[in-house]
Amino acid sequence: MPQIKKLLIANRGEIALRIHRACHEMGIKTVAVHSTADADAMHVRLADQAICIGPPSAAESYLNIPNIISAAEISGADAIHPGYGFLSENAKFAEIVELHNLIFVGPKPEHIRTMGDKIEAKRTAGALGLPLVPGSDGAVSDVDEGKVIAERAGYPVIIKAASGGGGRGMKVCTSPDQLETLMAQAGSEAKAAFGDATVYIEKYLGNPRHIEFQIFGDGKGNAIHLGERDCSLQRRHQKVLEEAPSPVITPEERARMGGICARAMADMGYRGAGTIEFLWENGEFYFIEMNTRLQVEHPVTEAITGLDLVREQIRIAEGEPLTLRQEDVVFRGHAIECRINAEDPRTFAPSPGLVKQYHAPGGMHVRVDSGLYAGYKVPPYYDSMIAKLIVYGTTRQGALRRLRRALEEFVIEGMKTTIPLHQALLDDPEFQTGDYTIKWLEDWLARQDA
Ligand code: ADP
Repeated sequence: MPQIKKLLIANRGEIALRIHRACHEMGIKTVAVHSTADADAMHVRLADQAICIGPPSAAESYLNIPNIISAAEISGADAIHPGYGFLSENAKFAEIVELHNLIFVGPKPEHIRTMGDKIEAKRTAGALGLPLVPGSDGAVSDVDEGKVIAERAGYPVIIKAASGGGGRGMKVCTSPDQLETLMAQAGSEAKAAFGDATVYIEKYLGNPRHIEFQIFGDGKGNAIHLGERDCSLQRRHQKVLEEAPSPVITPEERARMGGICARAMADMGYRGAGTIEFLWENGEFYFIEMNTRLQVEHPVTEAITGLDLVREQIRIAEGEPLTLRQEDVVFRGHAIECRINAEDPRTFAPSPGLVKQYHAPGGMHVRVDSGLYAGYKVPPYYDSMIAKLIVYGTTRQGALRRLRRALEEFVIEGMKTTIPLHQALLDDPEFQTGDYTIKWLEDWLARQDA
């Protein structure tokens, strides 16, 4: 079995640091690649080797496949971990990595490709027995066809881009007379954002929760699930806070739905980590998409299972079997993650800049994944997430109390952050009971501004 000795991290920020840490604990050397804007980044400082791969613009650096492959060859790395975002769900990249006899820490390229096309993903999920949101069987290009599908699914419907991602390129349509305009808009926005105008239609669920299952496959027909995460707290379809387990899922329901997901992945021969995302309404699950990579919110699953998901990814990439059988996976306690962004907590305007003071919270069951340090300058070119705060408690109430305490300790001076937003959320009685859906945060924000 190939043993990875040196791994190139094709990413930046907290996730690059996260991967570096797992590698060093496994005795694997790391190579950081970075843009000129990230020369002072923490993961660059900690890695065994660092190679500059281009100017600040991600297109010329973190998405620059020839430069990344060259860096792997120059440094003698034998594997590449893509993290999340950037090239992590680029099937072509995974193929090129393997063509260069490097280990890609991720799924088989054909599975990345299938799941990257949301129409193909839905078709595959349906064939594997996952419950789907009612809607079109494939692409919809013709308005009359769209009207028939929308009528059958029932208004309101949502028009989604086949190549969509990051919550972009979606239009909600409430009546037949809007359909033509909204389909055209969705198509042209999708074309501009993703280079592909293909759209499809599904029923727009009124007030669902977003619940996703973490799965792992060994690529040889074995797969397990690691339970669910509830990511219903969203703004503009972007996750703000995640928790595990979901406040509304019973152990029986977890075992049933997790089992369906794991079987589907086993049937597919899926390799590595993946997340199957569902909307959940009135006790029913509806598949929306699958992410063929590590997720930002993976630490909440680590907290309640005691597993290191990056270590597991690396072992599988080396050709090892899964560490655990399903019956060995035990869920304990409750974990919550806050995404802390360099943004104004009211207007969400980006606020990059120099970190003047930095103090991260600590203590029992508190984890901070962040590349920040005093004197570091948050560059304006990338995602605004600067830290993740993850807390664990034996109960949800205990985790909430710990989160409040940890947020009080957190000091990031020099820029605006979303820490005050998380503190205000914690004070809300509805949030405290866990009674919220994907609409809840936007309604709550509107109430704060009123
Ligand atoms: P992306 O790949 O852009 O993240 P998803 O398909 O995962 O798109 O959807 C992102 C979010 O959009 C979901 O978490 C949910 O908030 C909302 N959404 C997507 N599909 C529907 C639907 N059919 N009904 C209601 N909300 C939806």
